Amino acid sequence: RAGGGDAPAEVRERHAELCQEIDDHSYRYYMGRPIVSDAEYDELMAELERLEDRYPSMITQDSPTQKVGAPISVDFAAVEHLERMQSLDNSFDVEELLAWARRAENEAAVDAYLCELKIDGLAVDLVYEKGRLIRAATRGDGRVGEDITLNVRTIDTVPEHLDSSTRAVPDLLEVRGEVFLPWDAFETLNTQLADDGKQPFANPRNGAAGSLRQKDPRIAATRPLDMLVHGVGACEGASFTHQSHAYESLRDWGLPVSDLYRVVRTIDEVRAYVDYYHEHRHDPGYEIDGVVVKVDDISVQRRLGSTSRAPRWAIAYKYPPQEVTTTLLDIRVNV
Ligand code: NAD
Repeated sequence: RAGGGDAPAEVRERHAELCQEIDDHSYRYYMGRPIVSDAEYDELMAELERLEDRYPSMITQDSPTQKVGAPISVDFAAVEHLERMQSLDNSFDVEELLAWARRAENEAAVDAYLCELKIDGLAVDLVYEKGRLIRAATRGDGRVGEDITLNVRTIDTVPEHLDSSTRAVPDLLEVRGEVFLPWDAFETLNTQLADDGKQPFANPRNGAAGSLRQKDPRIAATRPLDMLVHGVGACEGASFTHQSHAYESLRDWGLPVSDLYRVVRTIDEVRAYVDYYHEHRHDPGYEIDGVVVKVDDISVQRRLGSTSRAPRWAIAYKYPPQEVTTTLLDIRVNV
């Protein structure tokens, strides 16, 4: 990694160390085997961001602050996404959330926000051609993911064919969402693994990652995975005016869309949604680590654009971690 000519040697050294450490943690995380908590990872990332804010010349394309996910493993075939998959910028307190909304409203005419839950699962990309599922892939580095079609076909809520009875299906549809293990499924799976003398998963996210990345789809088929979709990539033969309009269409086509998203007009209503699910974090029946707020109008989304790793028209509000130590696997995990 080059750059940072104006930074003192010890700062450049710390920068290189952080980049290496974060890359290693990312790789382990996307394989479903993290060794630090998300909060510890986020703290390393925040330190890296602080260094790069102070010495912008250290920012290279290769820095974890500029890229998405991690390189893919050799266990699955590589597939190029039709449109890049991105990450999300994070906010950890209301002030940061408000600052994001102020920036967005200053730059464009934002008249509504769509609030939804940030599901702690695995980002997956589905491609439907003439209404038929032809491919499913992990996010990978955002450009190239791993072909996990056979495993995703075992998820009951993912339709093999889109439903055209209410709305004509598009010729091509790339749809993104989160694959996860609901809490009850996670508990059943862990009991079963323990009965079989196998190592249980530390949390539902690792369980979902481990299950989706099984090389044998027959094993994946025994794992009660679920999916909720929350975005569209490439699309030919349909268009959407609003994020909420896209969700209505996806639902009509039989894709799993959450019932828990809300379209609101003001940032105060966004705050109320954030507060409600902070209080009711366990109600949805699956692990959430925050809320995602998106500008609803797609023409305004386009106007706001994206950075190299995340859209400017959306932000994640992360809840503080509820951390426990599990003696089971001797690592700290978020529950
Ligand atoms: P992220 O998980 O913070 O946010 C982006 C992702 O959120 C998207 O790719 C999408 O798949 C998902 N998402 C869930 N619900 C969504 C919704 N309703 N709408 C839109 N997107 C939704 O970002 P990331 O780049 O995947 O990962 C970074 C985070 O992962 C870190 O902040 C950290 O918490 C965790 N992480 C942990 C470790 C570790 O070792 N513990 C390592 C790497 C990353």
